[in-house]
Parts: sequence; C-alpha cells; structure tokens
Amino acid sequence: MNTSLKTALCAVALHATSATAAEPQVGAVDSAQQITRAGAQASVPGPADFFTGRARIDPVWPADKNINASGGLVTFEPGARSAWHTHPAGQRLVVVSGVGLTQEWGKPIQEIRPGDVVWCPPGVKHWHGAAPTTAMTHLAISGTRDGSAVTWMEKVSDEQYHAH
Ligand code: MN
Repeated sequence: MNTSLKTALCAVALHATSATAAEPQVGAVDSAQQITRAGAQASVPGPADFFTGRARIDPVWPADKNINASGGLVTFEPGARSAWHTHPAGQRLVVVSGVGLTQEWGKPIQEIRPGDVVWCPPGVKHWHGAAPTTAMTHLAISGTRDGSAVTWMEKVSDEQYHAH
C-alpha cells in the first residue's frame, strides 16, 4: 500500500470517528441506550388535594412516544392513602416494600405485600395506600390516554379506610 492511500484511509477513519462522536445522526438518540442517573429526578410530596396523610412520589420515567405509560415510586407513611380515583388507560402497581391496602369501589379492602402486582382496569374507581401501622412503597405504572393518567375524586374517609 502506498503512502498516499494509507493517509487517505486514515483520514476517512478519523472522519468517521469524529462524525459519530460530534455529529450524531437524526434519530441517533432513539437508537442508543439512555441512563437516567439516580438523583436526577427530585422527590415530590403527594399533593394534599389527592392524598390523605404523607405520601412521597419519586418519578421514575415519563410517558413518551415509545411507551405510553409513566412509572413512579409512591411511598405512603402508615395510614396514608390516595383519594378515590380512576385511570383512563389503566394502571399496574408493583408492591416494593411494606404492607399496603387497596380497594375497588363496592368491594372489600385487600391487603397487598411486596411482589404483589395489582391491575386497575380503565375507569374502575379505587384507592391504594399504606396499612394503618406500616408504610408501603409501590411502583405505579400508569397508562396515558389523551395526555391524562388519572382522574381524581373524593378523599377516602377514615370510616372507609378503617373498614378493613
Ligand atoms: Mn390507582
């Protein structure tokens, strides 16, 4: 191989390398892994309008054009619970720690424990929260329909909560 050809090949290789690093192709973001680092998303308190007691929401991922469902970790202190609500596109709950309670309108309260997976069908009125004396954390995966993941209703009264 003559020197000028070696030089030319080397230049092509360098150009290819720099183009990949500095000038990603359109669409390259969607074709590459992304890591959202721990600590990049702030914890937020569960709004008092929609929660009784202390709840904390740790966002995990937002709904996007690839997966039309958001994920969030929700931690309920003992006795804390969501208000009654429905999900327009349904929701799955994966209990991560503690002991929790959930109830569908008109049905008995059910206890949920780590590893349990709850499916809340679209439009079905329900609530979820911690047990009276034990905290609970679940991963909530909520489908989105027309930009909405939840429709909030009235609070769960103490009488309703303690019917367990
Ligand atoms: Mn729900």
